[in-house]
Amino acid sequence: MRELVNEVHAWLAWAEESGLQNLAPESRPTEPVKVEPKVKLPLLDAVRTELGECTRCKLHRTRSNIVFGVGNPEARLMFVGEAPGEDEDLQGFPFVGKAGQLLTKMIEAMGLRRDDVYICNTVKCRPPNNRNPEPDELEACEPFLKGQLGAVKPEAIVTLGKFAAQSLLRDSTPITRLRGRWREYQGIPVMPTFHPAYLLRSPGEKGKVWEDLKQVMKKLGLPPAKGGAS
Ligand code: SF4
Repeated sequence: MRELVNEVHAWLAWAEESGLQNLAPESRPTEPVKVEPKVKLPLLDAVRTELGECTRCKLHRTRSNIVFGVGNPEARLMFVGEAPGEDEDLQGFPFVGKAGQLLTKMIEAMGLRRDDVYICNTVKCRPPNNRNPEPDELEACEPFLKGQLGAVKPEAIVTLGKFAAQSLLRDSTPITRLRGRWREYQGIPVMPTFHPAYLLRSPGEKGKVWEDLKQVMKKLGLPPAKGGAS
């Protein structure tokens, strides 16, 4: 129980640091806190509630739906992509198009199910014509990615594609050199790899992604799998 109370305090501290004033000061407990045993989903829900019908950056003007994230609120592994595409914008869920189907195969090749992991993007609204998110948009949305990380507390993050890696790591090194090497974000190990949309265009690169995912499996202590996604 003490661990859960500490977790709530840590999350409230994150909310305050991130400037999410609606939650932080008013919810800060002054008396001993009563916490329900299942705390992670409510924390993730609280981040989503705080996001609301967000208008914090200009991407809100052209979106159909906010694409917050899906998956296991207690996932040991989180996948972070760049931004929602057209299918995701229309359906409100991340990685639901062809690239999403390939991501599902990649997850299954690791011996996991899509429901075992958590999947989200660096920004929650689709940039017009799938352009790259701009710095002000990333800055406006980053507190919510941090909130998702603070709630789920994954043991490892896999970034998908050049943009997610470069923006999370604040490193403009090309993805060809970033991928396959462990980095860190908010104290969590990060493995950058190629985006599944790129693999659809360049299937010859799948072997490299599989090597990256094998490193992740090793880090998480997952049993070796037989082969990569086809
Ligand atoms: Fe809000 Fe993020 Fe969407 Fe910008 S991208 S409007 S910050 S949810």
